[in-house]
Amino acid sequence: MVKQSQKRQISSPIDTGENTRTGTSTASLKQAILDNLYYIQGCTPELAMPNDWYMAVARTVRDRMLDHFIHALKRLQSPKVKIVSYLSAEFLMGPHLGNNLLNLGITDQTREAVKELGLELDELLVQEEEPGLGNGGLGRLAACYMDSLATMNVPAIGYGIRYEFGIFDQEIRDGWQIEKTDKWLRLGNPWEICRPETSYEVNFGGHTVQYLDDNGCFRVRWIPHRVVKGIAYDTPVPSYRNDMVDLLRLWKSEAIESFDFQAFNVGDYYKAVDEKVISETVSKVLYPNDEPEIGKTLRLAQQYFLVTCSLQDMISIHLMRGKGIETFHESFAVQLNDTYPSIAVAELMRLLVDEHLMGWDTAWQITEKTMSYTNHSLLPEALEKWSLPLFGRTLPRHLEIIYEINRRFLDGVRLRYPGDDGRVARLSLIDESGEKYVRMAHLASVGSHRINGVSALHSNLLTKTVLKDLYDLYPDRFVNVTNGVTPRRWIALSNAELTALITKSIGDRWIRYFEDEIRKIEPLADDAGFREEWGKVKRNNKSRLAAIIKERTGVVTDTDSLFDIQVKRIHEYKRQHLNVLNIITLYNRIKKDPGQEIIPRTFIFGGKAAPGYFMAKLIIKLINSVAGVVNKDQDVAGRLKVVFFPDFNVKNAHHIYPAADLSEQISTAGKEAAGTGNMKFSMNGALTIGTLDGANVEIREEVGHENFFLFGLTADEVHDQKVKGYNPRGYYDSNPHLREAIDQIRSGHFSGGHGELFEPLVDNLLNHDPFMLLADYQAYIDCQDRVSSVYRDQERWVRMSILNVARMGKFSSDRSIREYCDNIWKINPVKGE
Ligand SMILES: *Cc1c(COP(=O)(O)O)cnc(C)c1O
Repeated sequence: MVKQSQKRQISSPIDTGENTRTGTSTASLKQAILDNLYYIQGCTPELAMPNDWYMAVARTVRDRMLDHFIHALKRLQSPKVKIVSYLSAEFLMGPHLGNNLLNLGITDQTREAVKELGLELDELLVQEEEPGLGNGGLGRLAACYMDSLATMNVPAIGYGIRYEFGIFDQEIRDGWQIEKTDKWLRLGNPWEICRPETSYEVNFGGHTVQYLDDNGCFRVRWIPHRVVKGIAYDTPVPSYRNDMVDLLRLWKSEAIESFDFQAFNVGDYYKAVDEKVISETVSKVLYPNDEPEIGKTLRLAQQYFLVTCSLQDMISIHLMRGKGIETFHESFAVQLNDTYPSIAVAELMRLLVDEHLMGWDTAWQITEKTMSYTNHSLLPEALEKWSLPLFGRTLPRHLEIIYEINRRFLDGVRLRYPGDDGRVARLSLIDESGEKYVRMAHLASVGSHRINGVSALHSNLLTKTVLKDLYDLYPDRFVNVTNGVTPRRWIALSNAELTALITKSIGDRWIRYFEDEIRKIEPLADDAGFREEWGKVKRNNKSRLAAIIKERTGVVTDTDSLFDIQVKRIHEYKRQHLNVLNIITLYNRIKKDPGQEIIPRTFIFGGKAAPGYFMAKLIIKLINSVAGVVNKDQDVAGRLKVVFFPDFNVKNAHHIYPAADLSEQISTAGKEAAGTGNMKFSMNGALTIGTLDGANVEIREEVGHENFFLFGLTADEVHDQKVKGYNPRGYYDSNPHLREAIDQIRSGHFSGGHGELFEPLVDNLLNHDPFMLLADYQAYIDCQDRVSSVYRDQERWVRMSILNVARMGKFSSDRSIREYCDNIWKINPVKGE
C-alpha cells in the first residue's frame, strides 16, 4: 500500500490536485464527482436528481478501478497465467458501491467529498438497485468467490448471464407473497462496460449433416434453425486493497445484426422483427428455482447460451496467447457451479472436434482436464434432467455428442463390471427407466476431473447416495470444499460497529486475513469491558433493524427482546413451519398462564418462495397469519412479536445478519448441502440453533459444542426412520402441545376461522411429513427453552457470541478458494508485483 501511494505521487503532476480519474484525495474525488455529473449525467448540481448523484459517484469509483482492471485484462493475454473460469447461471453480487469503496479503501474520503457537495453517502448507497441475478445461496456463493479470487490474486473470469429481469421483488399483500418484476436496469447500470465487439454466435435447433473433409475425414456440421448472438458486459470485481481486479463477464442475447431485410418481402419484415424479439428473449429473465417443470425449452436455451459464449470466449483468449488449441487446459480451469452449465462438457467437445477439427480422444482428454463440477444438492428433484426429445430439438448436435460420450463411457463400465447391467443402466448419461432423459449430473461428472460437494457432510452423502455409482467408478475425482463467505461484505461492509470494535482491539488485518487473524479476539471474551462494548454493538444493530422493520411493516419491536431470525428461501426442507410451531407453542403457554416469566422474543422471517411453489407460499401466509394474531394479543404483548420482513435480498441482508441474537438453521438433517446464511449469522455474533446438517456440523466443531444449540435427528436417523416407515401421526397423537398447535392451524385460529386455508399444509404434515417436522418438534421446543435460559445470563451469552465470531476463520471464502486452487485447479495465485 505504501508502494501504491508512491506510484500515485509520481504519476500525478500536482501533489494536491491529483488526477480526477484516479486521485483518491477528498479534493480530487469531489472534483471527479462534479465532472462525472456534468459530462456523464449531463447536468449540474442544481439540476441533479438523486440518481444523477448516485451515477456520478459510482462512475467516480469505477474510474478508480480501471487502471488495475485494464492491467488484469492485459495479463489475461500472458501465456503463462492459468485463468479460473467460474461458470454460473447466477451471480448474486449485491449492491456494488459500498463494497467497491470498501475494497478500494476510499470510503472515508468519498464520504467527505460527498458531504462537501451537500449530500450524505448513506443516502446515495440506499439509492442503488441491487443486481438480483440469483435465487439465493448458490448465486451468492459465486459472488463471494469472486471477491476472494480477486483478493487472493487469482486471475479469474466469472461467466454468467445478464438477465434483464433478475429475481422478482417480493411484496406482501394480505399475508400473501406478490411478485413484482425486477427492473434493475431501469436507471442505468454504471458498473458495467458493454463490449459489443466481444460477441459470439449461438445456434439453436435444426439438424446435423455428415460429410468427409478435404482429408477424407468424417465430420459433422450443425445446420441450425436459429442463430442469435451473445454480447459481453464486463463488470470489474476489485480485490480488497490488493491492486488485483477480476472480471465478471455477463452475456446478453441479441439478434444477429447481419439480418438481411432485403431478402424479405414486406410481410416478412414483421417476421424479421419477431425474430429479434425471440433472440432477445434468451437472456430476458432469471428463472426462480424450486419451480416444478416450467419454461423448459427457454431454460435449456439459456444454459447453452451461457456455456457456448463463455467457451468461445475462452478459446479466443487462449488462441490470442499464441498457443495451440491442444493446450487449452493450460490456459483455463473451468468450474461448473452446479449442473446448470454442465452442457459445457458436450459443447467443449463440439468446439474442439467440429470447429477445431481435433480427434475425439485428444478432445476428451482436454475436456476432462479443463472441467470440474460442484454439486449443490442431494434432493432428487434438484438433479437436473432434460427430456430427450426436447434436448434433441434444441441441441441436436449435442445429443449426438452425448450419445458418443455415453457409448465410450459405458463400454468402459462394462469392462470394469462385466454382466452388471443394473449398474450400466444406473450410470448411463441417459435415463431409460421410463420416458427418456439426459442426466446432467452424470454428464458433468463424467466430463470432469474433480467433483466436489460443498460441506463435509454433503460431500460424504454424495458418495453414498446420488453419485454413489460414479464414486465407485472414480473415487479419486471426489473431494470436498466447504463453502465460505467473504468477511469483507458480510462483516466489514455490513457491520460497521462490530468492525470498528474488532479493529480497535486487534488491528485491521483480520479483514484481509480472516482465517488466521480473527482468532485473536478470543481472549477478549474474558474482558468485561470488551463484552460490554460487544453487547452495545449488537443492541445498536438491533435498533437499526427495528427502525427498518417499523418503516417497512409497521410492526414495533422491542430491542431488548431476543432477536430470533430465520432468513433464507422459503422451502419445506428448510422448515420455516417448524419455527412457526415453536411460536404457537410459546403463545399457548402464555395464554394458559399469562403471568409466567418468559424471555421476550422477536421472531423475524424473510425469504422468497418460488412463484410456482404452492406450499412455500402457503408457509408465508401462515407466518403472517400467526403474526397477525400474536402481535395483537394483549396477553402476549411485550413478550412475543412476529415479523415477516419483505423482499429478502443482499441489500436487506446487510441489515439483518448483524442484528440477530439467534440464527435458525433447522433444516431436516441431510437436506441442506451446506448453507452460507449460517456462516454470515455466526460471523456477526449470532448463536445458532440448528440440526446436524450441511456446514452446521463444521460450524459446531469450530465454535465448540458448548457454544451451539443442537437438536434433532441426524441424517442417518432420518434415513432409518424413513426405511422403517415413518408415522408422523404417532407424534401428533402422543404430544398434546404439538396436537394443540396443529389443531389451531387447522381450525382457523390464525386465519379468522378459515381452517380450510391451511388444510393442505396440515394434511401434508399429518399424513406424509417428508421433512419430519413432527419427529423433531419436541427436541426443537426443548432446545429453544435452553436458548432462553442461556439468554437470561447475558454475560454468558455475550461470551458465547464473541467465541462464535473468534472461531469462524474457517468459513472465510478465502479458505474455500485456497482449497479450490490447491486441490482442483492446480493454480498458484499470482504474486503481486
Ligand atoms: C446468504 C444468502 C442466502 C443463502 O442463505 P441460506 O441460509 O444459506 O439458505 C440467500 N439469499 C441471500 C440474499 C443471502 O445473502
